Amino acid sequence: MSEYGDSWQGSPGSIEYKPGRIGFVLLLCLSSAGILGGVFLLWYIPTVGLGNISPILPYVLGSVLLAGGIFVVVGAISISIAVMNQKVFFPAGFRGLLVRFFLPIMVMVGRGILGIPRIRIERAFIEVNNHLVRLMKRRFKPEKILILMPHCIQYENCKIKITKEVKNCVGCGRCEIGELIDISERYGVNLFVSTGGTIARKKVHEYKPDAVIAVACERDLTSGVQDAYPLPVLAIVNRRPRGYCEQTGVAVEEIKQALHDLLG
Ligand code: SF4
Repeated sequence: MSEYGDSWQGSPGSIEYKPGRIGFVLLLCLSSAGILGGVFLLWYIPTVGLGNISPILPYVLGSVLLAGGIFVVVGAISISIAVMNQKVFFPAGFRGLLVRFFLPIMVMVGRGILGIPRIRIERAFIEVNNHLVRLMKRRFKPEKILILMPHCIQYENCKIKITKEVKNCVGCGRCEIGELIDISERYGVNLFVSTGGTIARKKVHEYKPDAVIAVACERDLTSGVQDAYPLPVLAIVNRRPRGYCEQTGVAVEEIKQALHDLLG
């Protein structure tokens, strides 16, 4: 079985799985419980040895680990509130906590212990990331927004090279590139078609945008959001009527919606 599960082959809409927020919160709580169990063991096991050195040391270690435990519980509760509601203080901070701290543990607990396909965890993460970026309610100048598209969106028999200069496209309508150029010109935002994750990262470094709208598969989006942090990224899952990396597509309406969210 692939890490994305046997059932996932790509589908006409390619939106086979829509994650529920409750499932995400449950996984978050379970991961937090696992972390707390680990914290307890970290305190309990060395306590005996430390007590032999000095009777105060177990309390010092206990205080440090207790502070860590409180941090995990408060973080998990705050993210859960953010996921279930429209309001949260410091959404940017909680996004950082989710991206940097909870996500790797949730993937470990979800996949390793519960056997949840990775794609489900990534889908839920993308949803929650987008939700937190929107809750930040930051507005950006159009020229500081970058739309990043994967090269596999281009019609496979198109002979025009668009990865160096996207405006080489003549807008024949066989793929969404022409429409995306219209949108980028209408809104005054940057558009780049990337041949891979490394080039995409290089372009982000070059353009130095304040916000990114990225289109890709779940795995690339998840790693891209992590790498780009703290840059706000609205992640849009591509359409894969023929499977991964082959003649993919994007719901242009989702790009427009993301632009409205970032431009205000
Ligand atoms: S829309 Fe542009 S990129 Fe797509 S097939 Fe037509 S010319 Fe090629």
